Amino acid sequence: MNQLNICIDIDGTMTEAYDWIPMANDYFNTQITPEQVRVYEIYDILGVQIESYNEFYSLYGELMHDEVRIRIGVKDVIDKLHENHRIHIVSAREEKMKNVTEKWLSRHEIPRDTLSLLGIHNKVSKAQELCCDIFIEDRYENAVELASVGFKVLLIDCNYNQGHCYSGITRVANWLEIENHIKEYVQICQYSQIAT
Ligand SMILES: [Mg+2]
Repeated sequence: MNQLNICIDIDGTMTEAYDWIPMANDYFNTQITPEQVRVYEIYDILGVQIESYNEFYSLYGELMHDEVRIRIGVKDVIDKLHENHRIHIVSAREEKMKNVTEKWLSRHEIPRDTLSLLGIHNKVSKAQELCCDIFIEDRYENAVELASVGFKVLLIDCNYNQGHCYSGITRVANWLEIENHIKEYVQICQYSQIAT
């Protein structure tokens, strides 16, 4: 069995992608719906300055990260993957969110080998450092950056990541599809080893 290094993003990938909306609507007095979330930058969707959004995030970010729901299938699939592969959680969250992040991961009993909070969106150098085989992501720009240097990316389908899937990027609807794609990938690796 090939042991893979599987890198997994948190927000929108392990968590429900639109759970921030009610809190943001309350704070900004807006009526945003998930269908309107067509870009990744939340301040753009809300029609507010980035500074206002940052103020909202500094007040409520930790609470949102604590309360956000886990996507269906995440724990089951990661449990199974962790039996044979390494699980690296790689998030753009800032280091100051480490406590709430670890608490949330522990509450949901998510097994992991490493946790990296980068504080920036670009994940290429961390993927290189971790010898990433597959990266599971929801941010389109991240997927493109990763795929452009040769990483295989599974992009979980959201309203805000509808760009063209370049070579190396596979769009998946849910965690069951993620599990199936990784199983297929492992089989292909095994066949190619037998063939050589
Ligand atoms: Mg994300």
